[in-house]
Amino acid sequence: MADCYCFLCGGNAEVSQILDIDLARMFSAASEKLPDPAVMAKLRFGAHDKLFQRDLCLIGPFDDSNNVLFDPLQIDPDAIYSIDARTVRVLDDVSPGEEHDYATVKHRPTGRDYAISGNTYPFVHKGCLRILHDALAAEGYEYPERAFWAVVRHMNIDSHAITGIEGVNYGREIEMTHDDEVVRPLANFLEAYQCKDTLPKQLVQELEAGQLSQALVYQYWLGVGAMWVHVSPHWFPYQQTFANPFALCLLPPQSAAHSRLEQLPVELLVMISEELDCFSDIALLLLVSKTVRHMLIPHMDAIVKELAPQWMIPPSNELAVIERAAHAQGRGFPWLKYAHTCRFISPSMRNRWRIFGICDQIAGFAQDLSDEELGQTPDSDRDEDMDVDDAMTD
Ligand SMILES: [Zn+2]
Repeated sequence: MADCYCFLCGGNAEVSQILDIDLARMFSAASEKLPDPAVMAKLRFGAHDKLFQRDLCLIGPFDDSNNVLFDPLQIDPDAIYSIDARTVRVLDDVSPGEEHDYATVKHRPTGRDYAISGNTYPFVHKGCLRILHDALAAEGYEYPERAFWAVVRHMNIDSHAITGIEGVNYGREIEMTHDDEVVRPLANFLEAYQCKDTLPKQLVQELEAGQLSQALVYQYWLGVGAMWVHVSPHWFPYQQTFANPFALCLLPPQSAAHSRLEQLPVELLVMISEELDCFSDIALLLLVSKTVRHMLIPHMDAIVKELAPQWMIPPSNELAVIERAAHAQGRGFPWLKYAHTCRFISPSMRNRWRIFGICDQIAGFAQDLSDEELGQTPDSDRDEDMDVDDAMTD
């Protein structure tokens, strides 16, 4: 297996196979019983996640005349500075390659292998690229993949790393999975339970008994195990939202102290809520008192819909279907519950939020570069002399 990590989310492209091997090996080391596959499945990635993990794109300078990416091994390292970012394109339909020593990816339609390189040929999950497009397009970049490529070159120009972008914080959960050779086995989970070679005792006992407690499954995916960092970030939690029992009136009552805010007419409170531009401020307002909470409950779905950050907003076609279905049942889409589900219950949305945060970091680095360096100037201005051909060694 190749040791390749997506430059956008930092996740290994073969983590689902590695996980299967780890789980089988660690369980057999700790127990002679065979676990029920249906129970073990609660610890494995779903089909949707596996598809996300292995569907890759390679990004790099493109050879228009031959309709392929230039061969990475023929780019002169000294000439990387002169590559025009406008020659950069995305090579779709790429899967993890066979080579361990030189991390490679394979272009499925042609069977061609490409070497990944830290500053000229980054690869990303196709699903992560979709997020990058949304996030950078919102920042006004017409060619997000070129801006991304230019940032990678700029940050990694003196680095031999091929596991991500220098200076980007991928999060501690991801760092724990990176190692010199391969993905560190179940890194966060084993570390949290201080187990070196086998699964935590409680997990083995529950697997043997054929029943995994909800609490342990939660710890594994969303808690200390942090497996959410590898979950597809495109699984919007509609069903989970409707099943989520969360409601504002269930929050514990606050202290008996009264707030002046309680004296305000509800219209004014709604206006204040709409002026707050992030959820944590709204949460603080809701915690002021039970009275304030009750005044705002009927308005919360509309307020949350208004304030929902970009990462949380579902694709408009999907949302339209869900909203129509909810209206047919005489209710609106429960935005407050949806936000709560995204924030606290859905592994997919937690990863999506994290990846949007990484895109924000990339957009921040892009601010140090000119439009020309970022490949955002019109293609008609392209100076052929500065083209990638000059970077070829021959
Ligand atoms: Zn990724």
